[in-house]
Amino acid sequence: MDYDIIIGFETHVELKTNTKLFCGCAVKDGAPPNTNICPVCTGQPGALPVLNKRAVEHTVRAGLAMNCTINRRSRFARKNYFYPDLPKGYQISQYERPFCENGYLEIQDDEGRPYAVGIKRIHLEEDAGKLVHSGSSFEESDYSLVDYNRSSVPLLEIVTDHERNPLRSVNEARAYLEKLRQTLIYIGISDCIIEKGQFRCDVNISIRPEGALDYGNRAEIKNMASFKFIMEALDYEVKRQLKILHSGEEPSLETRLFDEKKKITVSMRSKEDAPDYRYFPDPDLVEIDIDREFVEKIQSSMLELPDQKVNRIIKDYRVSKKDALILTKDRNVSDFFERCAAFCDDRGRLSGWIIKDLFKLLNEAAITIEKCPISPKTFSDLINMISRGDITDQIGRTVLEIMFQTGQDPESIIDKRGLKPIQDEELLGSVLNEVMRENPEAVNKIKEGMTNPIDFLIGQVMKKTQGKANPKKVREIIRNSLLP
Ligand code: ZN
Ligand code: MN
Repeated sequence: MDYDIIIGFETHVELKTNTKLFCGCAVKDGAPPNTNICPVCTGQPGALPVLNKRAVEHTVRAGLAMNCTINRRSRFARKNYFYPDLPKGYQISQYERPFCENGYLEIQDDEGRPYAVGIKRIHLEEDAGKLVHSGSSFEESDYSLVDYNRSSVPLLEIVTDHERNPLRSVNEARAYLEKLRQTLIYIGISDCIIEKGQFRCDVNISIRPEGALDYGNRAEIKNMASFKFIMEALDYEVKRQLKILHSGEEPSLETRLFDEKKKITVSMRSKEDAPDYRYFPDPDLVEIDIDREFVEKIQSSMLELPDQKVNRIIKDYRVSKKDALILTKDRNVSDFFERCAAFCDDRGRLSGWIIKDLFKLLNEAAITIEKCPISPKTFSDLINMISRGDITDQIGRTVLEIMFQTGQDPESIIDKRGLKPIQDEELLGSVLNEVMRENPEAVNKIKEGMTNPIDFLIGQVMKKTQGKANPKKVREIIRNSLLP
């Protein structure tokens, strides 16, 4: 029997705002514990929340980017539960009438075709504080401290739809997460820095016999931050649940925990459901009317989305789709490319050198392109020199490395290091003669009309000149002297 896999995500994303969701406290990381707090975000009796308009704008922006319906009227609800990092005893979230519903996010499916993953809802809620354990883990701690700096920082929660175009494989799950993160960064509402907990997922997965109408029981794995661990956990869950189904049993509805060392999931508790939280509308916050004008204003200031950028780069610069996809993965990379393209017409070569050679240097130095010591102008100067045949690829790579280390421009590096290509025909001719004496067979083959040995001879000349010979010139000399 074949089975259908259904994977769902509830993704929490920290929004980029100056202040918290319901008070004026600063959102700032690295601040000493409990310094950005006030009566509202620490849940003091009688303190009243006031909604942050910027957070609502960000939410609507996300909704538009993911093709959602923006609800005319929304409201906040209290989600009741107790935990020491939640001083009010409830989280202000949304239940009925979130800001955005029924959208989609397009990804490539496993066959490379576009697939519009259903987005059920996008809502706005507040984050909880943070527990700081005295030991290396909760179990090994004598006590825990609580830091409320994060309490009430605005979070966006994006929920996929398990009924309408759900994620059907671990690969699709990965494609969705990457596209979601990329989109949110592109529209400027979150930095989505995974290491800082700005992008965290609750993942659920269920498996049912192919074509069955009932959903299988799902297992949920909470609070996953690393994409790598999410994929490992999903891979494990697929195997585990299939094994249970094959034995004629049914997996249970539960919350599981991923053991990062053993790469397995373990049962934590039976899953809580909405009724357990006793959601009810928050009486401290009025309902929010979102008029058309507000939405249109956001729509008109919408930044370019990843797919739009890919298409524009292909069209404007005639770069291959494969290259365009790589260049646009990180908006800063495509910005760098576009700034270079203003100085450089050889766009194919330009994108190739960014993707292959510049990325290699950035990776080795473990820095991102914003910190790249080479400016778009000097990078383009180098590419132009290679395009014109002034220098070879090989020398270009050496020059690029020095540019990366010193920030100098290519001309002065070439001058100072004596990397100027040898153009002098007499000198090139004498090196070539030497090479021909050493390789009489190749010379004979060329005289008989074969062309491959020409490249071989050029290669030998390059070797003898440490890559400084101008290969075009060498080719010319061979043609003139050996070919009839
Ligand atoms: Zn506050
Ligand atoms: Mn939530």
